[in-house]
Amino acid sequence: MTTTLRRTARSLATAITLLLSFTLVQGFGSGTAVAAPTAVRIVYYDASQAQEFKAAVDEGAEAWNKAVRNVQLKPATGGNATIRVYADNGWPRATTSGFGRGTVYMGRQAVNDGFYPPRIAAHELAHILGLPDNRNGRCDHLMSGHSSPVSCKSTTPHSTEAARAERNAGGRAAAVAPDSREAGFADCFVF
Ligand SMILES: [Zn+2]
Repeated sequence: MTTTLRRTARSLATAITLLLSFTLVQGFGSGTAVAAPTAVRIVYYDASQAQEFKAAVDEGAEAWNKAVRNVQLKPATGGNATIRVYADNGWPRATTSGFGRGTVYMGRQAVNDGFYPPRIAAHELAHILGLPDNRNGRCDHLMSGHSSPVSCKSTTPHSTEAARAERNAGGRAAAVAPDSREAGFADCFVF
């Protein structure tokens, strides 16, 4: 009787040990997956045609780089740009054909009306990151565009805007699809 009990206890202990080591292996496995570094998508822009707005474009890009982790906007080196930035006398606008791909026009019309060029740049670059206009009048949102006051000089994306860009940068088709169809944004800062 005692021997049987002892044997049962021993096999139970073995079973528990096996179970524990299995759990540990599983735990280690998932822990490793969570700790894996986030892939960063580098999107290159060419602001060499942006004339007097080149510095404003760099500032708008930097504002995004500070706000998001998995995508970074960098000045193009050679022919690797997927974003082209121009300056003209129209309204600021953007066209995009997918995440990180498109054209930005730094239109002087809005600058003449008093809008802050780095904020315009951050707004238009946001379209290329898949964000639509959102005319809620708020200065702490980049996508409010012309609905925010001309005195607004904020270039920092709202946390919800940064989160949306990060989701789009994540690259899963389902997450990107609604925002990344061929799109044109022409009345961002029309006053
Ligand atoms: Zn816009």
